[in-house]
Formats: sequence, C-alpha cells, structure tokens
Amino acid sequence: MPELPEIETIRRGLGPLLVGRRVLGVLVRDRRLREPVAARGLLRLRGARVTGIRRRSKYLLLDTDSGLTLLVHLGMTGQLWVADRERARRPHEHVVIALDDGRDLRFSDTRRFGMMHVVRSDRLDLHPRLKGLGPEPLDGSVTGESLFRATRGRRRPVKTFLMDTRSIAGVGNIYACEALHRAGINPQRSVGRIGLPGWDRVVTSLREVLTEAIAAGGTTLRDFLNAEGEAGYFACSLRVYDRKGKPCGRCGRPIRRIVQAGRSTFYCPRCQH
Ligand code: ZN
Repeated sequence: MPELPEIETIRRGLGPLLVGRRVLGVLVRDRRLREPVAARGLLRLRGARVTGIRRRSKYLLLDTDSGLTLLVHLGMTGQLWVADRERARRPHEHVVIALDDGRDLRFSDTRRFGMMHVVRSDRLDLHPRLKGLGPEPLDGSVTGESLFRATRGRRRPVKTFLMDTRSIAGVGNIYACEALHRAGINPQRSVGRIGLPGWDRVVTSLREVLTEAIAAGGTTLRDFLNAEGEAGYFACSLRVYDRKGKPCGRCGRPIRRIVQAGRSTFYCPRCQH
C-alpha cells in the first residue's frame, strides 16, 4: 500500500507534468471503486487549468483555477500517472483526464480501494475524508511536546496511536515500526507512560524515516517520469519492517512480529523498551 513517502514522490513527479495544463475532457471508463467515482463531479473539471498539486496525509489534491479540487486516494493498488494519448490503456484503467498537451492523466486501481472526488476548493477542509485528520508529521506542527501533552493519562499502545490519522496524519505501518525502532521504544508501550524525551525521540525518528524514504523515492522519480507512470516506489533500507526472525542491525537478536489492531508490528525486544 502506498504510504506518505510514495504519495509525496508521486506528487513531486506529477507536479511539473500537470501544473499549468488545461483539462480538455474527462472519460470515466469504470466508476466501480469501493466508493464509486463521482463521474458528474469529474466532468466539471473540463476547461479548468491545474494550478497546483498538494498532499494531505495520503491524499493528493489537484487544485484548479475553476475553484474545484480533485481529491485522489490511491487505496491499496491505485496508480496515477501521465501518459501520451496514444499509449495503450492498462488493465483497470478507471479514469482518463485529457490534457491540452496531448497527454492524459490516468488513474487505475486493480483492487478498487482508491477514491476520486471533485470538491469545491473552499470547502475542502469540511470534506469527510479530510476534516478529522491530525497534523502533518513533516510540517513542524507535530513536536515531542505536543504528543507528550496529547497523551497524558491515555493508555493506547504507541504504535496504534502513531497510526491513528486523528493523532498524526498519514503515518503508515512501515514508518510507525521503523520510527519506533530508531527511537528505541517498544510498540506496545502505553502512550501515557512515555516521557518528553521519549516523545522527542519518536518525533525525530519519524521525521528521519519519512524524509529518508522520500529521498529514496526521489531517486526513482526520474524513472517514474521516463517510464511515464511505471511508478518506481521507494526503496529504503528497512531495519525491522517485514524482517521477522532476521537479526536486529543494532544488537543482532531476532526481530519479532506481533499483531496490533489487526496489523503486523515488527520490533526488537532487546533494543525497544
Ligand atoms: Zn536490537
């Protein structure tokens, strides 16, 4: 599943291809996503010029000069890419947005967990998918102190807390596991029992792993553009994620896997307290 760094990579890759382009037409080939594509809303994009592309949590937001924003979530398998118009369509290509430079912005989604909505830009904050989102981990509003204060008297396991988009937006499973290993904090530890220095380490580690992963995504950015959408996702060196039984890079003991809130957690019982 694409997480924050992949979405950020896609955003950076798409920016130069989309900003300034005008939408000539919209073709909805198949609206059957879990949350059906709102075809009528998409058609309202005709004639609009793309003025910017932003990311909020794992959502991509394409702003236009017509006061409408295209809100996209890639779900598990969604892909958003720009291709020359004559390029053959891919399987599960749901939406094609024709641009004024002879290319298309295309959206495909094999497993259909993705989402594509057109929203009035001035009402974006009220959209049900966006309004409850916590602060972005990379924009400076999340600090050790803010998390320390938010968690006094609370008893949730720290891993589940980090993955809750109401606490912090867009920290997926991989990065929650990796950040906690770097911070030396056991994923099962109750949030209320982590002191300020612990939260400072969590926030620093979280920023580190996300930034490194975005940089790694950046190295595949060129491929992404050249291949016109053969999206190369990030390749960052994971220390615990999906490494059950393999030695911890710090102490050599085997990495352990447990399940928390239905998701796999990987950690080192020796290094993380
Ligand atoms: Zn270890």
